[in-house]
Amino acid sequence: MHKRVLVLGAGFGGLELTTILSETFGCDIDVTLVDKADSFVFGFSKLDVMFGRQLPSDVRHAYADIVKPGVKFVQAAVHAIDPEGMRVGTDEGTFEADVLVVALGADYDVAATPGLAEGGNEFYSIAGAFALRDILPHFEGGPVIVGVTGKSFKCPPAPSETALLLHDYLTTRGRREATEISVVMPFGTPIPPSPDTSKAVLAAFAERGIRFVKDNLVTSIDPARKVAVLTDGTEMPFALFLGIPVHRVPQVVIDSGLSAHAHDWVAVNKQTLETRFPGVYAVGDVNGVGTPKAGVFAEGAARVVAEAIIAQVRGDAAPAAYTGQGSCYLEFGNNQVGRVDVDFLSGPKPTGAFHEPSEALVADKKHFGASRLQRWFGK
Ligand SMILES: Cc1cc2nc3c(=O)[nH]c(=O)nc-3n(C[C@H](O)[C@H](O)[C@H](O)COP(=O)(O)OP(=O)(O)OC[C@H]3O[C@@H](n4cnc5c(N)ncnc54)[C@H](O)[C@@H]3O)c2cc1C
Repeated sequence: MHKRVLVLGAGFGGLELTTILSETFGCDIDVTLVDKADSFVFGFSKLDVMFGRQLPSDVRHAYADIVKPGVKFVQAAVHAIDPEGMRVGTDEGTFEADVLVVALGADYDVAATPGLAEGGNEFYSIAGAFALRDILPHFEGGPVIVGVTGKSFKCPPAPSETALLLHDYLTTRGRREATEISVVMPFGTPIPPSPDTSKAVLAAFAERGIRFVKDNLVTSIDPARKVAVLTDGTEMPFALFLGIPVHRVPQVVIDSGLSAHAHDWVAVNKQTLETRFPGVYAVGDVNGVGTPKAGVFAEGAARVVAEAIIAQVRGDAAPAAYTGQGSCYLEFGNNQVGRVDVDFLSGPKPTGAFHEPSEALVADKKHFGASRLQRWFGK
């Protein structure tokens, strides 16, 4: 009988893992990939849709297009995970596994920030970002806050990118002079592991008159007075609030015993990504390995787990340890993209090498997306 690998979540982590297993074993493995959604959307595509650079229909990649030997995609919501019994309950039935990979990402808890749902616009969910595509064209001016509401959030460069892209968007519409843009972040610099990237982002902000409010979170919003309240008690007025909602561990993961509470990201062995349950791995945003929550890190973690499964099947030695490396592209506005190559785990402290914004990196980023679509969906 072939090894049964059950992968929960078809995001960056789940898609990369199943692709490697199919490439390696073809039909000689039994991989089931489960996701409640019918399509995949890159995180960065949310910004493209929000700012009118792409249509919603262009950025949805249907899971039905996945045709890979050895891999079966099941569209179903996971409602119970038994990591001891290696069993998973879904609304399409129960699945059993020899290896279980939890790659369910991070959920959003909009209600954790009082007033956000009523008075702000979160842009991290697909629905939130796509809705802004129709809201932004009607925005005429006043203060805009791009505000982070929780300490652990996906793609730490995204709030800065959003401010820079918003600057361009409003400039094109002739509304930039009627607007002030501020970014509220819980860090002292925009990209803490990379001082050079932070310096470049802060220089781009200064050039464009974007204010960086450091070491603060937005803790609540008063929709009636249109003010955001920060951790230090400061009140900031806004006409438009673009929010990064509080991130949390999906409830089904907590119920499984893999995590103790909403902010207890699944503990894993930092070298292998295995949880305390043998044969159960946690990959990507859902884990607490210590890397930022970003697709490139989910992908890197998936590669390590795939290599471990390959080694188990072949009876080979365990693969090299996970190093927490990844390259993040950063939209600087003005049709330029920069890049930061981050290394989180291999040295004594995280490092980030910066590559100056350029048009060449715009092409690199396009290739990054296109190459994943080719690998994962055969497009
Ligand atoms: C605005 C924005 C910009 C970003 N830009 C970048 C970028 O430029 N580069 C980068 O590397 N990262 C970027 N990211 C971050 C990136 O999108 C995530 O870090 C990445 O998708 C994490 O991958 P994952 O596999 O861990 O989880 P996800 O990709 O989130 O996948 C999790 C999957 O699990 C499914 N799921 C969840 N719960 C259930 C359930 N109960 N039952 C069934 N299925 C379920 C979901 O439908 C989802 O498909 C960005 C994010 C945002 C919001």
